[in-house]
Amino acid sequence: MTSVKMPSISTATSIVKSSAHCTYPGGRSVLVPVVRASTVLFESLQHMESARQRRDTHKVFTYGSKGNPTNFSLEDLIAELEGGFRTRLFPTGLAAIAMVFTAYFHPGDHILISDAVYQPVRCLVSNFCEKFGIRVTFFQPTGEDLERKIEARSRGIYVESPGSIFYEMCDLPEIAAIARKHALLVIADNTWGSAIRYSPLRLGADVSIVAATKYLSGHADVMMGAVTTTEDAWSTLFRMCETFGMTVSPDDSYLVLRGIRTLAARMDVHERGALVVAQWLARHGNVAHVFCPALPGHPQHNLWRRDCRGTNGLLTIQLRDLNDDQVRIFIDSLNLFGIGASWGGFESLITPCNMVEARSLTDWSGHTHVLRLHIGLEDPNDLVSDLRQAFEISGGITDRRT
Ligand SMILES: *Cc1c(COP(=O)(O)O)cnc(C)c1O
Repeated sequence: MTSVKMPSISTATSIVKSSAHCTYPGGRSVLVPVVRASTVLFESLQHMESARQRRDTHKVFTYGSKGNPTNFSLEDLIAELEGGFRTRLFPTGLAAIAMVFTAYFHPGDHILISDAVYQPVRCLVSNFCEKFGIRVTFFQPTGEDLERKIEARSRGIYVESPGSIFYEMCDLPEIAAIARKHALLVIADNTWGSAIRYSPLRLGADVSIVAATKYLSGHADVMMGAVTTTEDAWSTLFRMCETFGMTVSPDDSYLVLRGIRTLAARMDVHERGALVVAQWLARHGNVAHVFCPALPGHPQHNLWRRDCRGTNGLLTIQLRDLNDDQVRIFIDSLNLFGIGASWGGFESLITPCNMVEARSLTDWSGHTHVLRLHIGLEDPNDLVSDLRQAFEISGGITDRRT
């Protein structure tokens, strides 16, 4: 039989078409069903033994916490999108990060972490790393000071690119080359890219973490983290997950599986909306700066063009000529932006950022009134009107700078 050559398909197509299927008498559902199970039954003792023998290397259904068909289906889809060997799911994005630290680092090790890291990782550093004798040094989000901060006991580099709040980028292929020279593991938080806009594993990282809570689920109704690794890095993570009994609910996996099918379409709408709003904000008299890597004025815009496939709904602004009370009034006067943390859902959000707490290497104390916006799937012209009226109520400038 001659094999049919499939044309290579785009990410958007594989998001829709990739799937594990269950066949029933008659036909099959489009999505894999929710399989709820603790006990798994076998046809014979021999069947049970052979399944258990294969479960460290194969995706076999042997016990509720050791993976089930719904979770495997989501793991396979994320692994495919991330370009990795395998994926493991966690109850939250932060739990995924914590398990990565637990799995790969030991007392006495030294880790280098980007200063643009998701802020709760700093709690992991003070409450976990310090307690277990793992030392941490922060490096500039662009990575310019990274190599000289490497020590004899260094074991890993943790990057977040684009970084939290200001979206600084590092040259990941270059960092991966430095890491190979010093035998360091490269871990990337890829929540910004969410397996569709950025691909750390394809750029040389060993481990990629995505908070599926955000864009993969897309509906602000589920918490989940996903860690995808290269083949070489897999067994270390896998063993520690098995040791800790780490698993997620198949109901939650189902929600993410359902959400992820519209990821490509949603992300394009988030991106278009964010660019419309960013361009309007950039011309507003009360806006000192708009941070977004897709804007030509962003310091790593060229790196973003080289390594990212578009942007998402995130924008950060720094306001000017408004006092603390006026900024509060501005936020409270918005009708279409929810006041809340997290992002990646279909709705627009706004949240103030404390740059002094978020960063430790650079003094951002002069950077007050920094607000992070998530542009949802609403009509961006409505969002612009909402921002305009909120500036007016706050006593800000009503007309545009030219
Ligand atoms: C939200 C977020 C996380 C953590 O995800 P949770 O599911 O909320 O724990 C990790 N990294 C980044 C960059 C995030 O934005």
